[in-house]
Amino acid sequence: MIIIMKPEIDPNGPEMSNLLEYLSLFPGLKTSVSGVRGTSRVVTEIYLIGPTHDIPGEHIERMPGVERVVRVSSKYRQIGRHGGQLDQLGFEYNGLLFNQDSFHIFLGLCAVDTREHVEIVFKNLQRLGIQTARMGAYKPRTSPYDFQGHGASCLPWLFELAGKYGIRVVAMEVLKEIHIEEIQKALEKAGRPTGVMLQIGTRNAQNFELLKEVGAQQEYPVLYKRGMGLPLEEALNACEYIASEGNRKIIVCLRGVKTRLGDPHRNLVDFIHVPVVKRLTRLPVCVDPTHAVGTKDRGSDGILDMFQACAQGVIAGANMVLVECHPRPEMALCDGPQALTMRELEYFVEDVRIARRAYEERRELASREAMKNLLK
Ligand code: PEP
Ligand code: MN
Repeated sequence: MIIIMKPEIDPNGPEMSNLLEYLSLFPGLKTSVSGVRGTSRVVTEIYLIGPTHDIPGEHIERMPGVERVVRVSSKYRQIGRHGGQLDQLGFEYNGLLFNQDSFHIFLGLCAVDTREHVEIVFKNLQRLGIQTARMGAYKPRTSPYDFQGHGASCLPWLFELAGKYGIRVVAMEVLKEIHIEEIQKALEKAGRPTGVMLQIGTRNAQNFELLKEVGAQQEYPVLYKRGMGLPLEEALNACEYIASEGNRKIIVCLRGVKTRLGDPHRNLVDFIHVPVVKRLTRLPVCVDPTHAVGTKDRGSDGILDMFQACAQGVIAGANMVLVECHPRPEMALCDGPQALTMRELEYFVEDVRIARRAYEERRELASREAMKNLLK
């Protein structure tokens, strides 16, 4: 059960404390309060966990400050839309808004290598007006003999440089709990010049203990990448693990699924699931065309397959794209062949913006059609 408060209600005010006191009378019931930022308003929601059968929803709906009470089905209890009864779940992080309407481009290195390369990337992002980056410090590799990432040692200069070039959020994969602590310590020591979005990679998509760890902390948003062999339902259940621990700042990332049917691409592009995730859940959706396609081949019209895949996701309403680039791809310690060069960045960003504008036009067209049907 979820209690949605009226937008003007102060989360620390008397209506909230009266309601929470009343709810504390029900044995075994746990409550979790969160602020939800939509496009036009911020509301407080109270999630009731445990035996909710005897909770008198109608009585609660009449209590001061309460807008409505929603009884949720067991599937995707916290992240689900529950048949359209719940609005999207948005959040603000480090001054940027993430929800099912927002749009951000995250660009950067697959694996952090040198200070010089990181600085070149950040400088280029700043030139393009982009405040969001991706940088891998901890790398899960298929072979134990491949570069595993610099780990915590690169974080101090990485965060300092991010701050210097106005990067507000860096998406960074974590493989275990201690990585979150290392990021926390390094950010604090550097004076929080930037923010971090914790990335759960495809290889950890069902590492439930790690999902619980990123869910138990409330500070950093989580970019959850679909497991390369996971049905969508299992991937969304994994997101529910994160939310059930208290952290609902989650973005679902589609990155292609592994099957030989995707050849000659690295994975089969699954971006038609963008509208499905937005319909089933309240979460924003990201697409990662770099790992989905995994090549820099281009079609006879000159457009890279990776750009085509990206445009498919964006024109379908993706809220974020995650793409790898490198100043000298031939020197990259991981995924060099699929990295965009600095010269290609401007072209890429323009191409993405064309697809986003097309999506916005299509959304307006859909809402005009819906209005016409209403008036019929
Ligand atoms: C990455 O984004 O750095 C990465 C390793 O991707 P994935 O987990 O999707 O393979
Ligand atoms: Mn990579």
